[in-house]
Amino acid sequence: MKAAMLYGIRDLRIEEVETPKPGLGEVLVKVKAATTCGTDLKIFQRGYVEKVIKLPTIFGHEWAGDVAEVGEGLSWPEKGMRVRGGNSAPCLRCAMCQKGSYNLCEDMVWLWGAYAEYIKVPARTVSLNMQPVPQHVSYEEAAITEPLACVLHGVEKAGIKIGDNVAIIGAGPIGLLHLLAVKRMGAGKTIMIDLVDERLEFAAKLGADYTINPQKADSQASVRQLTSGYGADIVIEAIGLPSTWEQALKLVRKGGTVLEFGGCPPGTEIRVSTEALHYGETTVMGAFHATPLHFREALTLISSGTINVKPLVTRKMNLNEIKEAFEILSMSKTEIKIAIKP
Ligand SMILES: [Zn+2]
Ligand SMILES: [Zn+2]
Repeated sequence: MKAAMLYGIRDLRIEEVETPKPGLGEVLVKVKAATTCGTDLKIFQRGYVEKVIKLPTIFGHEWAGDVAEVGEGLSWPEKGMRVRGGNSAPCLRCAMCQKGSYNLCEDMVWLWGAYAEYIKVPARTVSLNMQPVPQHVSYEEAAITEPLACVLHGVEKAGIKIGDNVAIIGAGPIGLLHLLAVKRMGAGKTIMIDLVDERLEFAAKLGADYTINPQKADSQASVRQLTSGYGADIVIEAIGLPSTWEQALKLVRKGGTVLEFGGCPPGTEIRVSTEALHYGETTVMGAFHATPLHFREALTLISSGTINVKPLVTRKMNLNEIKEAFEILSMSKTEIKIAIKP
């Protein structure tokens, strides 16, 4: 089969590899759509945590497709069934899992290999993080279950309440998914902050109430002005840079919450004002990945039409054009997610 192998930074090659055989409890899926992700772009541009991805590997982790072969020992799924699967499955046995922090599992099975004609789904993922995709949901939409699951985990943790003013730094795919989610959760004013006007326009089309380009207006002053001088109730950082993590702390009101969502380069640190934590009672939290429950919820929200992810797919490309797709994403101001159709 044809697959996109990642060897290192900006080194992505289309190769002919052996089509995997599903073993006990495993399933082989014919990939019908795989969507590009901010994490993929980061890995392509600057590498990533070795615990999560070991190179060389077939790249890509957001996918949906048709069951092509079912391994021994399974009563579900059936051949031909439309399915989506998550890129992780927790062990349920480690200390983190025993505490219910499944997204922090110490022995997570990670699944890479979406940018290929076929993907072999591990047994643990089949049982914990794979669902049938309803007919009316396209493969592209179903693939977006993965980033939406991560976003649901984040917004749930941040504890957004009806009427909360929410400022989101970064109008890329993850920032936009946060926007869609918090609006559905009853956010009051939503404020998107990004350096690229085209992205802000896109955010406004998706329902952002206010947009701020920090190159044109001071974001701290603008957010305060929009929130009667107090700052946002919730600030979400969806870029993954120490500078924007620090900026997020300056936009929040006293007693508010900062959700540092974007993963920063390894080894980086931020400065946090002790006064903001003490006198301002700011809550600062991180969020990483999602649990199988969030994946299930994300698919439900997509399938019910509660969260419409369709506009986020701005282009469709062939598997052969994968490298070009990432070059386009590196440079483009208007592309959000590209659906790769093997
Ligand atoms: Zn993703
Ligand atoms: Zn575990």
